[in-house]
Amino acid sequence: MQDFKIKFRGVRGSHPTAKQSHLKFGGNTSCVEVWVGGHLIILDAGTGIIDLGRDLQKDHILSGTDLYSRKPVDATIMLSHLHQDHTQGLQFFAPLFIPTTKLDIYGLPYSNEPLSETISNMLFERVFPVSIDEIQSNFNIHDFALKNVLIINPDGAKKFIAQSDFNPDVHNDDIIISVYKTTAHPKNGSLSIKIQYNGKSVVYATDKESYIGCDKKFIEFAHGANVLIHDAQYTQQDYISPILPKQGFGHSTFNMATETAKFAKAKTLFFFHYDPNYDDGILSMLEDEYTNISENIIFAKENLEFTV
Ligand SMILES: [Zn+2]
Ligand SMILES: [Zn+2]
Repeated sequence: MQDFKIKFRGVRGSHPTAKQSHLKFGGNTSCVEVWVGGHLIILDAGTGIIDLGRDLQKDHILSGTDLYSRKPVDATIMLSHLHQDHTQGLQFFAPLFIPTTKLDIYGLPYSNEPLSETISNMLFERVFPVSIDEIQSNFNIHDFALKNVLIINPDGAKKFIAQSDFNPDVHNDDIIISVYKTTAHPKNGSLSIKIQYNGKSVVYATDKESYIGCDKKFIEFAHGANVLIHDAQYTQQDYISPILPKQGFGHSTFNMATETAKFAKAKTLFFFHYDPNYDDGILSMLEDEYTNISENIIFAKENLEFTV
């Protein structure tokens, strides 16, 4: 299967906004569903993952007459970082509670603690009625080492290899996932995630503040991406506001995202992770402005689908 498709499930930054005035763009926090070579990769587990989970659960139930004749949900979740707007949907991801589900979660460990321990403490134990040990699905949490590349074979087998041993020519049919860590996001940085398949690539770069002239290492990482999904939390005006400047908050402006896409020669740029203060009126105005500048700029919206 040579499919490569994305669907935005949550495009909001910081916190969900359950308001009529925000529904055109969407109020759920970060989550992007990616179908590639027949495999499901989920970028972040903000509240957008909840509806995705319900859809997967529905398909699972319709696929057979009992638990073991049904097609199991099999997914890989990549976490950019552990802020709440990227993790708070995980406890309500319905397939987690179906015993046949196979779920691998990857992310950056916080400090010296394994990621599994951090997730267990921050999302389950004291704050949720189910502890992580009581979850019956085949649910594994893995630390992603920055110098590694994750390879998913066509049959679904996953393995890490060191970047230094990675030869793209022998991985034609594989899905290749690599990461770039930006430290310009307080306090533990954020991972930008690249998915490559059959000569195409999607780069997901959320919660990242650009530098003057762009982050050159990131430009190299994202070079030639077919799709670049980029943090665009603020307008330039709000970023440099004399009353409450947003410099150092770890987010980019629409202009920074545009500049980054230009330097990286990305084919299509999606703005993502909008400030919850921006309602549909503000975002629609910005959409008119930026989509007039380039037809390769798209404002991510909840449930918007795109073929890579
Ligand atoms: Zn965020
Ligand atoms: Zn964050």
